[in-house]
Amino acid sequence: MSDLSDTATEIHDEFSEHVDASVDDVEERLQRLVTEYKVPLDEARRSVENHYLDEAGLDRDDLGGRGNETVQVEDVDEPEQWVDITAKVVELWEPRSDSVGQVGLLGDPTGTIKFTKWAKSDLADLQEGQTYRLGNVVTDEYQGRYSVKLNKTTTIEEVDEEFDVGDNEDTVEGALVDIQSGSGLIKRCPEEDCTRVLQNGRCSEHGEVEGEFDLRIKGVLDDGRDVHEVIFDEDATEDLTGVGLEEAKQMAKDALDTTVVADEMRATVLGNYYRVTGPTLGRYVLANDTERLDAPADPEAVLIKARSI
Ligand SMILES: [Zn+2]
Repeated sequence: MSDLSDTATEIHDEFSEHVDASVDDVEERLQRLVTEYKVPLDEARRSVENHYLDEAGLDRDDLGGRGNETVQVEDVDEPEQWVDITAKVVELWEPRSDSVGQVGLLGDPTGTIKFTKWAKSDLADLQEGQTYRLGNVVTDEYQGRYSVKLNKTTTIEEVDEEFDVGDNEDTVEGALVDIQSGSGLIKRCPEEDCTRVLQNGRCSEHGEVEGEFDLRIKGVLDDGRDVHEVIFDEDATEDLTGVGLEEAKQMAKDALDTTVVADEMRATVLGNYYRVTGPTLGRYVLANDTERLDAPADPEAVLIKARSI
């Protein structure tokens, strides 16, 4: 879809309950402003919105989500954005903290994204399998993975919309040719919702803090044509290297040096072939699923086998 028809769909969705206009009607209005009158799309959007606000006798504040951008899951690529989103509850998980009321996975045709609903938000419980229009949710990011948070100001509206939840996962494979700096045993800022990786004991936001240990690998897979950057989180790193967080801490303690962990990991996994599946965020594929592959056949071995037949 073009920007223009995306925008038309968004405007249509904003007004679907208030105004009897089709997406085509909206698009036509936008089109006229943009092509005939050379109005920039942002301005055209505002103007078309104003037209429908007038028509419906509404103020901008009457629209859900205080005029937030309505986004799809795949559009979420920045933390701390206030957005509206229509998505189905794919899965609910057991909250691990008392401050969390509900946690799980939302999906729309473009993919899935984690959501968290704060216990103190006093919002109604979401039901698995139900689609909702969620107004005024905040985006968040952790290790390159995005989520949305429902808060006191969030509006929840059940909608009857049927769609197949998209799969925003990619699969890449190749030889693990590099482990980048910032891999191995790292420390993160313990401040709530921060989790930045510390540099020399300092968080870029909170200054000197008592960090919390974590494991990760930022790796590079080379398939002979392209290179793919992959992030393995704590669990994936342990699966990949056989080294868990406790063991890594012990190694660092014994050596009085945290860098021994990444060195050890390099020695274990560099040169191995992997197939990694997970969502792509920015440059990285986040390893949800990792499979060790046999190395591509050694041509010499193939030749010997061919001669023996
Ligand atoms: Zn911090």
